[in-house]
Amino acid sequence: NHGYIEAVIGPMYSGKSEELIRRLKRAKIAKQNVIVFKPQIDDRYSKDDVVSHSGDSINAIPISNSSDIYKFIDNKTQVVGIDEVQFFDVEIVDVAVDLADKGIRVIAAGLDMDFKGEPFGPTPRLLAMAEFVDKIQAICSVCGQPATRSQRLINGEPAKYDDPIIQVGAVESYEARCRKCHVVCK
Ligand code: ADP
Ligand code: ZN
Repeated sequence: NHGYIEAVIGPMYSGKSEELIRRLKRAKIAKQNVIVFKPQIDDRYSKDDVVSHSGDSINAIPISNSSDIYKFIDNKTQVVGIDEVQFFDVEIVDVAVDLADKGIRVIAAGLDMDFKGEPFGPTPRLLAMAEFVDKIQAICSVCGQPATRSQRLINGEPAKYDDPIIQVGAVESYEARCRKCHVVCK
């Protein structure tokens, strides 16, 4: 019995975490042996849960390297969930492939593009190697059309292309936007 890789991708607020949690909870109902990982850096809301913006959650193990996954799985593991996959090192794809080869169902959720609209970290490689890819949309907060991009705002204004990742004293926020309403000032 071989496993496979499922990727759930899209912009912020598109429901990636919601969809990941939904699939993992159904696997649990089917009495599958499920384990969930997320990158250590992401600790919005809760330290060891995957939490969606709508409030749904599932317990997850924060890890800092993709190879840490091997410390937590065993030959009973049937389903591995990974949230915020874009923040992992590119080796996360090799780990996902290896787990799928070993018979595990791997479900990975994450951003396909960064706030500039460019491919994000390991995600493009993951998409190329996954059996199943679901690209989902949010609602554009400007025009209401399907949103495929994440708009970064600094003090309410569109972030510039080379704005630093962390700006002291600035209020950073994100919203979902469509191609037309997404702004990146060079
Ligand atoms: P993601 O993991 O993709 O960031 P979540 O699963 O955490 O998304 O959150 C999805 C939820 O976010 C939606 O069900 C909805 O309640 C909420 N939400 C907030 N803003 C938006 C938006 N602009 N478009 C769609 N959903 C939104
Ligand atoms: Zn729009």
